[in-house]
Parts: sequence; structure tokens; C-alpha cells
Amino acid sequence: MTFKELGIIEPILKALLDKGYDVPTPIQNQAIPPALRKQDILGLAQTGTGKTAAFVIPIIQHLHRDNNPCKGIRALILTPTRELAIQISDCIHDYAKYTAIRHTVIFGGVKQQAQTDALRRNVDILVATPGRLLDLMKQGYIKLDTIQHFVLDEADRMLDMGFIHDINRILPKLPKEKQTLFFSATMPAAIATLSSSILHHPVRVEVSPTSSVVDTIKQNVYFVEKEGKKNLLIQLLKKQRPQSVLVFSRTKYGADKIARILCKAGIGSQAIHGNKSQNARQTALTDFKSNKISVLIATDIAARGIDIDQLELVINYDIPNVPETYVHRIGRTGRAGNTGMALTFCSQEERPLLHDIQKLIGKTLPMLPLSAS
Ligand code: AMP
Repeated sequence: MTFKELGIIEPILKALLDKGYDVPTPIQNQAIPPALRKQDILGLAQTGTGKTAAFVIPIIQHLHRDNNPCKGIRALILTPTRELAIQISDCIHDYAKYTAIRHTVIFGGVKQQAQTDALRRNVDILVATPGRLLDLMKQGYIKLDTIQHFVLDEADRMLDMGFIHDINRILPKLPKEKQTLFFSATMPAAIATLSSSILHHPVRVEVSPTSSVVDTIKQNVYFVEKEGKKNLLIQLLKKQRPQSVLVFSRTKYGADKIARILCKAGIGSQAIHGNKSQNARQTALTDFKSNKISVLIATDIAARGIDIDQLELVINYDIPNVPETYVHRIGRTGRAGNTGMALTFCSQEERPLLHDIQKLIGKTLPMLPLSAS
């Protein structure tokens, strides 16, 4: 599926392209179509799955298409922490940049002046933590009677953090007629009760949390600048001479480029990605499986459909945007009790992505010195 096939319209497609996101994540595939139909959603998904875009994009699209915008706030996104609120706000900023949709974010622990100033300038989407929202509502800065879309994000964490009373005070202030998108990483009884009390015939969407990496995979990271990645790859392949290595590239263009560089260095490899014919992909795969070539370069989408067990090494030439993708990528090595190895090339700009991955898998990847490669 592409974002276009999911029904996303031009200004948002353009923004997605700017971010380099060409395929939706599984949760986006499941949630975007019903959300665009204005259905309620019960979403079971963790951070790292692309869930923010799964609710933000449909809301931006609805509001953008609504020719008769009212004055008040049209969408409310409630989230438990300041960090999440800022992340969601950044996400709206990115995806709404080619629309006229205005948004702002409010959270506690800081002075309210800048927030109330922003609210006076009229906003379409408000991202808020519960305490500050109630505070500003009480003071008369915020009215929720024009809300058409309501998101409750990380509901389980809201409950853990003791926000249930705040939520119960906010809910009655929302209009009855609205779309509600409810997201939670887990579904304990209290969350199930809360969700069934506020959702109407919800569509349930779910992605299983993939955060665990098997112990048989040895993982390391090289901190290397973008320009140094080519040489590092050549050195590694020449020195280690692995029988089977899958190199991941974020883009099709990048995959072809790596193949050309390796070819020049005398290392036989082939690239597989969406722009190659089915035949070319099949040949590459057969050559790889029969050990005619030891290096296969793939994009994430192309790699999804291929089944190769017993990979000796996975190289993340580029770091994936979605942390879960890292787990999927490296899960292709170290199968069936064999030991496997995963090496990740991390440039300066990619450090935040590495940080997200480490958070997801719950450990810091040991660094290897460049000279030792
Ligand atoms: P989230 O689960 O919403 O915290 O998102 C995790 C990360 O995935 C964020 O850094 C997003 O920018 C990124 N992301 C979201 N959707 C996509 C996509 N379709 N393709 C690539 N990266 C994405």
C-alpha cells in the first residue's frame, strides 16, 4: 500500500515525501482508512510503530477538506507527557505544512502566558496534557464545544500516571457528535472499560509489539559520517568475507548506488527494490541463496517479501525511521539458534534514530572503533 492508495490527499502526500516516507507502517495501513471514514478507532500500538502519524494525518486531512471551518478548536489530542505532546506537535507541524491548519501545544510545568497567547490566535488542533488543559479551561481560555475529532493517546500511561479523574472531567465538555481515536499500548481491564464507554462501534487496529531481539544476535554500531559509509562497507566485506550478508538501504536510489560502489570494489552484489522487475528480483534472490553472490542490498519493502534464513550478517547502511523496522531487519539473522550479527552505520544526523531504537530494544548498542574494521 502507498499513502496515496490509502486515500491521502496531495498537500499531505507532498509533506510525507519531504520526510522521505514512501510507505505507511502497518498501524498506518490499518488505521488511516477507517479514520478517514470518520469511524472511531481503538488502536493497540506502542510508540515506535508510527502511530502518531496514523491519527495525525487523517485529522489534518479532515480539517483541511472541511470548507466551512468554525472559529473554535476542531481537534483535541490528549497525551500524558510533555515530551509526547511536543512530539505530536512536531508531527502536525511536518504533515500540515502545505495546508492552512494551525495547531498549538499546551502542557504543565511552564508559564502559561505563551500558551494562552497562542490560543488567542485561533487554533484548529490542540495538543494537550490533561492538567494544563483543565487549568486553562477553568480560566476560560479554552472551550471544547467545537471539537470534531478527539484523540486519547497512550491511555494506559494516562491511567498509570493518575490522570483518570482529569480525563473524566474533560470528557463531558466534549460534544457528543465527534470522532474518537483511542490509542493504548496495552489493554488492562480499566482501559477496556474506559474505551467502551467513549467509543462508538470502533474499528480495532492492532500491531504486535516487536521490541525483543533474540540473544543470539550480536549487535554493534559504528559511528561513521555519511561520506565514510562506503569505505567502511567495503573494508568490512573484504575483511570479514561473509557468506551471506543483507545490506539495508533506506531508498531505492541508495540501494543501486551501494551496488555500483561494491561492483567497482570488486565485490559481487545485487540490489532488490520496488523499481526492479519481478524477474530481476527473483534472479538476485536465487543467486544469493545459491551463494553465487554473497551480498544482497535491499530496501525495507523489498526485503519484506523475501524469505532467507540463516543470514550471517545484516548491515544497516542507513538507520530506519521506524524503530521497529530495526528489529524486523536484524531478525533475519541469528535464526534457529544460529548466531548472527547485526552492524549499524550511524551518522551524526542519524543519532536520534539510534536513540529511539535503543529505547525500544532496551539496550545500548556497543560501539566498534572504525580503525578495527
Ligand atoms: P511513533 O510511533 O509515532 O512515535 O513514530 C515512530 C517514528 O517513525 C517517528 O520518528 C516517525 O517520524 C517515523 N515514521 C512514522 N511513519 C513513518 C513512515 N510511514 N515511514 C517512515 N517513518 C515513519
